[in-house]
Amino acid sequence: MKVYISVDLEGLTGSTSWESTNLGDLEHRAVAEQMKQEALAAALGAVDAGASEVYIKDAHDSGRNMDITGFPAQCRFIRDWTNSPESMIGGIDSSFDALLFVGYHSPAGMDGNPLSHTMNRGNNYVKFNGQLCSEFLMHALYAAELGIPSVFLSGDEALCEHVHTWDSSIRTVPVKKGLGYATISITPEEACRQIRSAACDAILHRDQCHLVLPETLTMEICYKDHACARRASFYPGVKQTGPYTVEFTGNSVKEVAAARMFIL
Ligand SMILES: [Zn+2]
Repeated sequence: MKVYISVDLEGLTGSTSWESTNLGDLEHRAVAEQMKQEALAAALGAVDAGASEVYIKDAHDSGRNMDITGFPAQCRFIRDWTNSPESMIGGIDSSFDALLFVGYHSPAGMDGNPLSHTMNRGNNYVKFNGQLCSEFLMHALYAAELGIPSVFLSGDEALCEHVHTWDSSIRTVPVKKGLGYATISITPEEACRQIRSAACDAILHRDQCHLVLPETLTMEICYKDHACARRASFYPGVKQTGPYTVEFTGNSVKEVAAARMFIL
């Protein structure tokens, strides 16, 4: 069995400030260590469930945040970026049996995390077919199109609730909640204990997950800067719908993801 784990940073236990998300910042070191511990917990859960191959993507910013020593031998690491529409699940293909998300965060347009955003900080929100789109949803739909179920997510509490509006069978571990610029989190050790056990359980019950793929997908982006909307409007198929907003409709998730590479 082959498992893919995508690991972000803004939904990890304890991560709170934008400074801590930057490689090289003093605060980044502790967060990067927690990124490793939560990725390791999920990988151990996957091995507990019988995975023979576990691919782990460092999916934050540089893609080179996490120390990769000390993982089980079944693991492979995807560092930096593949420059392809799969983005935070770069290198995934239909040979995988399950997708897990670790350290994921609320999208732009939600107040569940001081670090809420969608792909970057240049937009007020991204919507898919009229509903707020998180980085989880974007990549879970991409995987669904390849026939891979998204089975597990850890991150902030508001995102975990949001995920259940899409698929109530996805196992989630809320590790913190956001209040203004603050976060209230559980202990790093407790987070890892819960992640390992829930990841294992989620993989064993992967057949229960059923994210529904839409027939056509309309992506709406509301930029913070009106010039970005104008710029995006020149991409083939993009329609400017207001001073700050554009829309793109595709017949597949892959088509929308490819457009997103250039306009978001
Ligand atoms: Zn991130």
